[in-house]
Amino acid sequence: MTTENDSTTTPGDRSGATPLLTVENLRTRIRTDRETVHAVDGVSFTVDRGETVCLVGESGSGKSVTCESVTKIVPRPPAEIVDGTVEFDGHRLLEADESRLREIRGSRIAHVFQNPQSALDPVCTVGDQCIEAITIHENISNAVARERAIERFRAVGIPRASARIDDYPHEFSGGQQQRIAIAIALAADPDLLIADEPTTAVDVTVQARLIELLQRLTDGGMSILCITHDLRVVAALADRVLVMFGGTIVERAPTEKLFSQPSHPYTQSLIDSYDGLSRRADRSARGEIPTDGCRFRDECPHAVDACAGSDQPPFAAVADRTHHAVSCVHFGPESDPEPILDDGREMRPIPEEGQ
Ligand code: ADP
Ligand code: MG
Repeated sequence: MTTENDSTTTPGDRSGATPLLTVENLRTRIRTDRETVHAVDGVSFTVDRGETVCLVGESGSGKSVTCESVTKIVPRPPAEIVDGTVEFDGHRLLEADESRLREIRGSRIAHVFQNPQSALDPVCTVGDQCIEAITIHENISNAVARERAIERFRAVGIPRASARIDDYPHEFSGGQQQRIAIAIALAADPDLLIADEPTTAVDVTVQARLIELLQRLTDGGMSILCITHDLRVVAALADRVLVMFGGTIVERAPTEKLFSQPSHPYTQSLIDSYDGLSRRADRSARGEIPTDGCRFRDECPHAVDACAGSDQPPFAAVADRTHHAVSCVHFGPESDPEPILDDGREMRPIPEEGQ
């Protein structure tokens, strides 16, 4: 058992090259009339080139605010990014001005939102929106861009794409709108796709198709940061997983490690409660979550005094020579995590797609 010297970053598994995205100690607060929410509270992670990183955790844990803080699209106010650095391919995004950020968001980092309506312009045909996204990035004729747009719509599973390209967003179902939003986001060939629950509104067949498309794109070098509550999507898509709870990351692991040896008690409860129906844990059923120490301590069967107060427990490696790390006092150099790891949790099958 070793404690990571640098608790702020966990490099991916690829050859020590500089990650495409490095987020360090990100903190975003949200001020409401009643309170200030520590929505993102000291979050650090990296995404390598060609890598897919999935962010999982119950509703309200800070996943969306994390992703929206990276390119500063989180609405400010009520949100305020109070600390941290975000470095994307040498650009420091939190310090960048709005015009620079717009440029990066238009061509290098694409967002797909949970609600596709927010991304689509209701008074513009879906074809025109896709063609515009393509021609911003590439100097090609409208006719060529139109063909390309049709290909993109086909690739995300829009039936009769060449006929439907001149339709308006409201003429498509919710699931189709989501796929169109993905096609448009991908039109500019971004280096990084940030996708917030991209497969929530689509059926299983289309979901499989989207996953296949995203896999192909990462094979081509694109990176993905993907929020999902669906562990089947995680198993199919992710190289690495970040588990969030109460605005913090509590565990980081290569995907197969997360399923075979979930180590943070919260991760264990998340996997244990997964019933294959994409059930969402409901945070409103919980009491207040602490804003210091281990945020999960009030619900943790293994909580001890050391879990309370001050900073989040430092990340400790679960096993040497892996990128599997956990923020839990039981994994410190002086502690014994065996009772947690052995708690009937030898090997856990990765959930299968379509089950
Ligand atoms: P997740 O995506 O994991 O479901 P979010 O990132 O959306 O969670 O939210 C993190 C926290 O920030 C939650 O407590 C949520 O209630 C709060 N929050 C997010 N957006 C707003 C907002 N516009 N106003 C007030 N609170 C917000
Ligand atoms: Mg969200």
